[in-house]
Formats: sequence, C-alpha cells, structure tokens
Amino acid sequence: MADFDNDFLNIPSIEVPKVFFSEKTNRPFNKCSMCGNLLNEFELHFVEKAFGKSINSKEHELIFEYALCSECLESTREELSEESKNNIEMYFKLYVDVAERNKKLLSKNHIDLNSWIGKCIITGKPVSEEKEYVIGGAILGNRLILNVMPYAVSEKAMFEIQELLSKKTKDFLDGFQKKFFRRMSESAYPMVA
Ligand SMILES: [Zn+2]
Repeated sequence: MADFDNDFLNIPSIEVPKVFFSEKTNRPFNKCSMCGNLLNEFELHFVEKAFGKSINSKEHELIFEYALCSECLESTREELSEESKNNIEMYFKLYVDVAERNKKLLSKNHIDLNSWIGKCIITGKPVSEEKEYVIGGAILGNRLILNVMPYAVSEKAMFEIQELLSKKTKDFLDGFQKKFFRRMSESAYPMVA
C-alpha cells in the first residue's frame, strides 16, 4: 500500500507534515496571515517558511512563516507584472520538469518528504548546505498536495529569481514584506516561485 492518498481529487497528497505547521503554535496554520480570516478546509491555501543560519549557528532557524488563503494568494499574484510572471515561468521551465519530477518522486509507494524539500528544486543542491532557503506547500484541509509543491528554493535560486522581476514587482514585494514580516531575508521573495 502506498502511504499517500491518490483518491483525493485524483491528486496525490499526504497528511500535512510538521515542517509545514506554524512554529508559533506547533499546529497547522488556521488563519491567513494577510487577511486574518480562518482558512477554509475546502479551499487551497499556501504555506511558506524561510530558514536561515546565523553566523554562529550550525542549525537553520525559522526566519519567517506565513499562510495565504486562496483569495489573498490570487490578489497578490495579480500585483505581479506580466513581465515578471512570464520570466519566472520561463525560469522554472528551464530548470524544472514538473512531470518528470512527479513521476520520479511518486514512483515509489513511500513518500520521502526529504526528496521533495531536502534539495533546491532549481539547483538540486541539499538545502542543509545553504545559508538560507524557503519551503513552500499547497494545502487543502489537512492534506499537503504533492504536485509542483512542496518544494524548497535555495538562496542562490532566489537571487536569480529576483533578477527576473520587474521594478514594479520588486517594489510591490518589498512593500508586502515590510507590511507583513518582522524580519525578512533580503533575498527572499515569497510566493513568486
Ligand atoms: Zn487571506
């Protein structure tokens, strides 16, 4: 028996693993970090967490975390310029073959979460060696959907993605960060990847 569920909308999913929980509460996110509304169990939401190592520590620590409801995710995406969206899409296509990745990662009956988020989806390097990285996941109810997400993106790839963003989009995301996050990595632009 496979340890993931395929029945659910015909998309493979697993129970939300702890790494996608809120570290503030040690439980799954239950509110959208942007609008504050309770997350609806019938609507997809998105969780992103960033981890970084300080100079003195060997272990990664949480830099920020948030959940976005589908409406806020949509309204945030609308703020990105067409140019930025196209560039990011092309960048991903260049490095990631989603169909191939899914085939490989879902070919065994066992889901090894580390094979999804243990390496940067772009560079393929282990995130344990990175100074900073982010992980992203799409969640419906108590299920983590296994598709393009979950993934990890390394600092290097985040820098490259930033280079692809238009000035308009960069300004918007800077504002987004300042508004919602106490401490943000300079390199991290959430939700665009
Ligand atoms: Zn929201």
